[in-house]
Amino acid sequence: MTTTPTHPREATVVEAAPKQLLIAGKWRDATGERTFAVEDPATGATLCHVADASPDDALAALGAAHDAQADWATHPPRERGEILRRAYEIIIERREDLALLMTLEMGKPLPEARGEITYAAEFFRWFAEEAVRIGGDYAVAPNGSGRFLVTRQPVGPALLITPWNFPMAMGTRKIGPAIAAGCTSVIKPAQQTPLSMLALAEILREAGLPDGVLNVVTSSNAGGVMEPMIRDPRARKLSFTGSTAIGRKLIEQSAEQVLKVSLELGGNAPFLVFDDADLDAAVDGAMQAKMRNIGEACTAANRFYVHADIAQAFSDKLAERMSALTIGRGVSEDIQVGPLIDDKQLSKVTDLVSDAVAQGAQVVTGGDRHGGDGYFYTPTVLTGVPEGARMASEEIFGPVAPITTFTDERDAIAKANNTEYGLVSYLFTQNLQRGLRVTEALDTGMVGLNQGIVSNPAAPFGGVKASGLGREGGKVGIDEFLETKYVSIGGL
Ligand code: NAP
Repeated sequence: MTTTPTHPREATVVEAAPKQLLIAGKWRDATGERTFAVEDPATGATLCHVADASPDDALAALGAAHDAQADWATHPPRERGEILRRAYEIIIERREDLALLMTLEMGKPLPEARGEITYAAEFFRWFAEEAVRIGGDYAVAPNGSGRFLVTRQPVGPALLITPWNFPMAMGTRKIGPAIAAGCTSVIKPAQQTPLSMLALAEILREAGLPDGVLNVVTSSNAGGVMEPMIRDPRARKLSFTGSTAIGRKLIEQSAEQVLKVSLELGGNAPFLVFDDADLDAAVDGAMQAKMRNIGEACTAANRFYVHADIAQAFSDKLAERMSALTIGRGVSEDIQVGPLIDDKQLSKVTDLVSDAVAQGAQVVTGGDRHGGDGYFYTPTVLTGVPEGARMASEEIFGPVAPITTFTDERDAIAKANNTEYGLVSYLFTQNLQRGLRVTEALDTGMVGLNQGIVSNPAAPFGGVKASGLGREGGKVGIDEFLETKYVSIGGL
């Protein structure tokens, strides 16, 4: 019998994490001292309880953000940047404990959680540098009389909503540019993973962030707490990362106050392997694009299209790598695949695989849940997955690689683009012309060319079509939190 691994510091890090709402710089209970449970997805056990905000608590948080906005907007950009820089340093100092906390609430193995902590911190370092680079413009009017002055100002209080799959990085990707631009915010993390966000908020307080600039609302009633804030005229901006279905709802709600909206939504990434690809590099890339975050990433390769001449070799090598992965509770250093986030996600993955198999797909490895108390699914490779299988059009969000074949480049591109989503695509080829030609033809906001990971704080992350609006990170990430003001100067 195998025993579930434990970590000597797990009780300590859970105990140390804040569990209340952060409003106007004070940690406080939710109205009626209501709380909800946070679960360890590797065991199903309750880790702790956190404050369960009411709609009134949320409106109090928005009030705090609104009250702090005018003052924060005039804070020197250098000081805003230095707060982010200090927060970056504290996160890196505390990486081990923060990673353990993330593993406990989300399930990803410790090495991956450490990677996310570093990735998350890098958004603060990047936007600390961007805070002092908010430019403007000055020009002579074309007719020579008058001048144009163009300046950039913070858009105003921002509402930020994050998912559970990257509990800290999806937060720093929004909080970093908001702080750098001079916006105050209210953030609502996902119900499954509030602890990483609460720990991050405490770090920002320690780094010197003034009261009210960042407010945190945790709740078991996402729609109930968000909608009144979205419809309140004090909010001016909404930045959401999550599913396309909820994103669509939020666009509708945002119409009432005509909020400036950024949306990072679902994906259905195609992964194309041409017959001139370096096969080992393609398999390495596939492992990254499929298995990062246990497949629970918007960027996860969801559909593999492999040239028929190399499909057998590719699927054999991929299956060999996938079947060698160690599965278990991620607090142990030797674990490579943790549990899925919850029972609902496990059922979805199980159903998608059953559907594909019923329609004729063959299981090369895996194909079933892993057993035990947690929500584990075995890394799986399927071949011969028909276009009509549900997983060809739905986000799998699990460790399942469906492979189909192609022989013609145009056909591969058409298949890749045959989806409502357009976040990222991957392609492997050693032919430069083909690489550029296919890259240009793919309808996605990002492309991994001979590369299985595209995420980088210094690059513009985002999708087209139903994958979202706007970009996070890179030089343009701060634009989402700025408005342009033009001053027409006469008398010259
Ligand atoms: P989700 O169900 O849409 O939830 C995302 C966030 O929205 C959570 O904080 C959730 O709160 C909140 N929410 C749920 N219903 C809401 C409502 N009616 N009004 C306002 N907020 C609401 O998505 P998820 O399952 O957590 O995350 C997975 C999805 O996120 C996938 O589709 C994935 O592709 C996408 N994602 C996209 C990116 C990207 O950058 N494009 C990055 C990561 C993930 P609760 O937790 O309380 O339900």
